[in-house]
Amino acid sequence: MPSDTALDLVFRQAAIAGCERPQDIGVSAGRIVAMAPNLVTDAPAHDVGGRLVVPGFVDSHIHLDKACLLGRCGHSHGGLSNAIAAVAAMKRDFSVTDVYERGACVLDKAIAKGTTRMRTHVEVDPRAGIRSFQAIKALRTDYAWALDLSICVFPQEGLTNDPGTEALLLAALRDGADLLGGCPYTDTDPVAQIDRLFALAREFDVDLDFHLDFDLDPSWMHLDEVCRQSEHHRWQGRVTIGHVSKLSMVDPETLAVIGHRLSDSGVALTVLPATDLYLMGRQSAYAQPRGLAPAHRLAAQGVVCSIATNNVLNPFTPFGDCSLLRMANLYANVAQCGPGDFPCCLDLITTLPARLMRLPDYGIAVGNPADLVILDAKTPTDALAEIAEPITGFKRGRLSFERPRASLNRLAATNGVLPRPVALSGG
Ligand SMILES: [Zn+2]
Repeated sequence: MPSDTALDLVFRQAAIAGCERPQDIGVSAGRIVAMAPNLVTDAPAHDVGGRLVVPGFVDSHIHLDKACLLGRCGHSHGGLSNAIAAVAAMKRDFSVTDVYERGACVLDKAIAKGTTRMRTHVEVDPRAGIRSFQAIKALRTDYAWALDLSICVFPQEGLTNDPGTEALLLAALRDGADLLGGCPYTDTDPVAQIDRLFALAREFDVDLDFHLDFDLDPSWMHLDEVCRQSEHHRWQGRVTIGHVSKLSMVDPETLAVIGHRLSDSGVALTVLPATDLYLMGRQSAYAQPRGLAPAHRLAAQGVVCSIATNNVLNPFTPFGDCSLLRMANLYANVAQCGPGDFPCCLDLITTLPARLMRLPDYGIAVGNPADLVILDAKTPTDALAEIAEPITGFKRGRLSFERPRASLNRLAATNGVLPRPVALSGG
């Protein structure tokens, strides 16, 4: 245990998933350096009061560049292809400043909802150029005090059918993009796109993150091709597929086979409940299928799964408060998860996306950055069930947000007169 003077700050009585007793967490130079039920130190203390502390939420899939567009597009459309077309028309006019300001608005909210790590997809193509990428790069720098941002550049409207797109993706990769995304379902030659992206991933030594199998027809999938290429290129553990709503339409036996395929080939899966629920099943006027891939079932099979935000206030998803805990609660409710599944649902926005993003320093453990978010709940189950408010957040040991608790004005019940003590019978 370090001496008193080694600690800058100590968190007292923190409930931590997996620990039987509340722990004190000692922080020095932005890192966790000690954890024990009672740390002896006179360092400044932050009393957690037995509430749950998480290492921040990890949003493994969001689109900062096309967030907050509702006021700009009327939103009389619906469906996936209409949403893509609506944003395609608007993004010619995206300026660096415009993307920066909308992205900042999302990051402000996400931080205050407890997110400390994030992977954003960014559209790079001849319409957007690399303007959106430049804006997001500036956000990555300007928000490093509160959130680690990873940038995934991708061709939303196709790669092999969209001349000039690949050159722009390469320019972004040379200029600091962290990884490559894909969207085979909008490409005229989906398998050729998957091929090319694996080749580029190898050339630049970056991970891959595909939008994939985003419909409700389980009779065919690109999932097999992505798993095959992940193994062929030995890219296991570096590939993610998102949406994969087709998996909501397969029977349990087929799902189990696919789960083994995903875990064997090291391909991770991200479910995006707000968008999947909003866009899928529109061909049915009633009795609509839900379109959510069963992430908690696949996670139980050893597949690295996550739940993420995807879109905020745009034609793909006209909702969004940037709360990942609300997203996990939404998933749990729609997927008919019971309390026994709630801790797993919390894992889907914390430890599992951290594995998906290969973040070796994530978690409340000695040696890791002191990224700590205090939730107004005692247990993971309660936090998930109640969408517990994030009360306070720290990034590398420095306060990143505070949310005062609501207080009820009980005086209103007595017209401002303090109630007299009630005499108990027999007292
Ligand atoms: Zn997406």
